[in-house]
Amino acid sequence: MIIAIDGPAASGKGTLAKRIAVHYGFRHLDSGLLYRGVGMAVILSGGALHDKSAAIAAAQAYDPGRFPEDDLKSDEVAKAASIVAAIPEVRTALIALQRSFAQSKPGAVIDGRDIGTVIAPEAEVKIYVTATAEERAGRRVRELQGRGGLVDAAAVLADIKARDERDMNRAVAPLKPAPDAVLLDTTYLGIDAAVRAAIDIVEA
Ligand code: C5P
Repeated sequence: MIIAIDGPAASGKGTLAKRIAVHYGFRHLDSGLLYRGVGMAVILSGGALHDKSAAIAAAQAYDPGRFPEDDLKSDEVAKAASIVAAIPEVRTALIALQRSFAQSKPGAVIDGRDIGTVIAPEAEVKIYVTATAEERAGRRVRELQGRGGLVDAAAVLADIKARDERDMNRAVAPLKPAPDAVLLDTTYLGIDAAVRAAIDIVEA
């Protein structure tokens, strides 16, 4: 059983995917961490983000255990991830790992941008999670404020829109709902209501 959960940045898909995986006792993969890991490796190597060869080498040598998840969560790494994710060879290098994870028993929940379209088009359940850019930026601002420190809300919104733009308009695996995905708009849903709605979709 494969549950594919795609959607734009800060749509809530990661939290949803985690909760659904716990609910069904399935394994969960946040595929964004793979692209973040490649982005981080390029940053640390001192290479330019648009230097394709550095990104491709990092993807081909990808080691899931290299960086602690917390180190990959910054906005700087998110931006780097969305740049390296537009390179076809980077995406190709990360396919096998995701496809083998998708075969996990008794089931796998994978969240990302192209899970229902490219990685697991055969997934039994595909959910495309959306929310307005303003709501997604607001969530990110509240999360950052919760960790303390000053937050420039306008800059967060601009970053989210720039990442949407890159993710939706790239030539390979652009972010878009699979034709058979069910849309779940979480703009006006709290996390519990969103989880219930997603479980309804799985069980429909
Ligand atoms: O989901 P997350 O914000 O961690 O993803 C970081 C970036 O990685 C995204 O903006 C996107 O460019 C890229 N990504 C992707 N395909 C995926 C998951 C993430 O292109 N399946």
